[in-house]
Amino acid sequence: MIELPQNKLFIGGEWEEGTGAEITSIFPADGSVNRVLCGASVADGERAIERALRAQADPAWRNLKPHERARFLYAIADGIEANAKRIAHIQSRDTGKTLRETGALAASAAGTFRYFGAVLETSDEVLTTQRGDALTMSVHEPLGLVAAITPWNSPIASDAQKVAPALAAGNAVLLKPASWSPLVALELARIVEAAGLPKGLFSVLPGSGREIGNLLVEHPDIAKVSFTGGTETGRALALKAAKKLMPVSLELGGKSPTIVFADADIEQALAGVLFGIFSSTGQSCIAGARLFVERPIYTKFVERLVAATRRLKVGHPFESDTQVAPLVHFEHRDNVAEHVRGAREEGAELLAGGSAPEGAEYEKGAYYLPTILARVDNSARICREEVFGPVLVILPFDDEADVIAQANDNDYGLACGIWTRDFPKSWRVGKAIHAGTVWVNTYKQFSISTPFGGEKASGMGREKGRDGIRAYMSQKSFYTDLSGAPHPWAAAAVHAS
Ligand code: NAP
Repeated sequence: MIELPQNKLFIGGEWEEGTGAEITSIFPADGSVNRVLCGASVADGERAIERALRAQADPAWRNLKPHERARFLYAIADGIEANAKRIAHIQSRDTGKTLRETGALAASAAGTFRYFGAVLETSDEVLTTQRGDALTMSVHEPLGLVAAITPWNSPIASDAQKVAPALAAGNAVLLKPASWSPLVALELARIVEAAGLPKGLFSVLPGSGREIGNLLVEHPDIAKVSFTGGTETGRALALKAAKKLMPVSLELGGKSPTIVFADADIEQALAGVLFGIFSSTGQSCIAGARLFVERPIYTKFVERLVAATRRLKVGHPFESDTQVAPLVHFEHRDNVAEHVRGAREEGAELLAGGSAPEGAEYEKGAYYLPTILARVDNSARICREEVFGPVLVILPFDDEADVIAQANDNDYGLACGIWTRDFPKSWRVGKAIHAGTVWVNTYKQFSISTPFGGEKASGMGREKGRDGIRAYMSQKSFYTDLSGAPHPWAAAAVHAS
C-alpha cells in the first residue's frame, strides 16, 4: 500500500501546515477522498519568498560552479527514478490517469532533471567577436526567484519542465501546483529535500490560484513566472506581469488540427488520430481535437475511426489494459458534457460516445466515453473552443489550400498532425500551419532536447531544449578595455589638467 503525502506544505525548506483554504484531492475513479490539505495562504507564500531570497543570495548556492550545481539535479533525477512507482501511484490517485501513463511521466521527469544537469555542465559563455579595443563577452546569470505555476493534467512532467531548468540556472523556485492535483508536487518536494538541495531554494505551495498564485505573480521579489494552464488565466497573468515588467512564459491551451490526406497509410493514420485525441482521456493541451480528412477517403475513414473508437477500453486507471481512464474531476466531466450538448444544439451529428459509459464499474467515477462529432461547420463553437476532454470533431477538406485555411482559422496555435506518404507535401503544409509543433505520421512524440511551446492564444516562450535553461537567466555583456589608453574623447582635457 503506497502512502500519500501528509497534510504539510514545503515552505522554504520546512514542512509546515498551510494556513490557507482547504483543498480536497479526490480519486476520480470512485470519488473517494485522497487527502484534505490546508493550502498555502498569502502569509505562507510570503514566508517562502523570504526564505527563498536568503537561500538564493547565499554564496553556498550562488558561488557553486555549474558542475557542482548539476550534482543536485542528478541526485533529484536519481530520487525520482528510485521512487517512480510511488510517484506514478500518487499521480494516478490525484488525476485518475492510468498507471501506464503516470509511470511514463515519472520517467520523463527524471530525464528532464538529468538533461538540464547535463546542459548546465556543457553550456558555454561566449567571447563575442571583437569590434573595438575591448574584450567583449556575453554571460548569463540567474534571475533570482522564479515562480512555477502548473495545471493538473500532467503534474510531475510539467513541474519538472520548469523546476529543473530554473534550478539549473541558479534560481530559487516556488512551485504552485493545481488545486485538483496537489499531491505529486509534495512528493517531488520530499525527493528534492532528500537530494540535499540547500533549504529555502525550493517550495511547494498548493493553494488557491486566485490567492497564492496571484501573490506569486504580483510580488516584487518574483523575477519570472513560468505558467502552464488555460489561456484565460494566462492572459490575465500576463497583464499583471506587464505592469511589473516581469518576463513570463506561457504554455496555454490548444485546439490542434490533425490532417489525413488521401495518400496516407490509413492504418497508421487511424491509430495516430485515436492516440492523439483519446489518450490521457483527451486532457492534453496538444490533443488532436480537430480532424480534417481529405474528401475522397472521408466516408470510409470516418467509418473505421468510429468503429475503432467504440473498441477502446474505458476503465480503471490501475488496470493494465485501460486506454481511456476517468476525467480528473466530476466538475470537469460536467464541463465536457456541456461542450458536447452545446455542439449537438449547434447541429453536430454524434457518431460515438456522448455520455458516461454504462455499467456498475463506472457508476462512481468521473468517466466519459470517447466521443466523435461531425457535420458541423468550422465556425461552430465545438471547432473553436478547447474541450480538454475525449471529444473529437471531424471535418472534410478538398485540397492543401483548403485544409491550411481551415486549420489556421482558429485562435490557438499549439500543435498539428499530418498524415501523408508525400514528404514534400507534409513539409509545405507543416510550414504553413500556425503551430509550435508539427508531427508527421506520428503524434504526441516528445523529446526533452526539442523545444516546445505555442503560437497565438496557445502562449509565448519555449520550454525544453538546450536554450530552456537560458529562459531562466538574465544575459549580461562585458566590455574590458585592451588599449590601456585614456579615451580619445577626453584625452586632451585630461592630459592638460
Ligand atoms: P488553469 O485553470 O488556468 O490553472 C492553471 C494553474 O493556474 C493552476 O495551478 C491554477 O490554480 C492557477 N491559477 C488559477 N488562477 C490563477 C490566478 N489568478 N493567478 C495565478 N495562478 C492562477 O488551467 P487548468 O484547468 O489547471 O489546466 C488546463 C489548461 O492547461 C488547459 O487549457 C490546457 O490546454 C492547459 N495546458 C497547457 C499546456 C501547454 O504546455 N501548452 C500543458 C498542459 C495544460 P488552481 O488550480 O488553484 O485554480
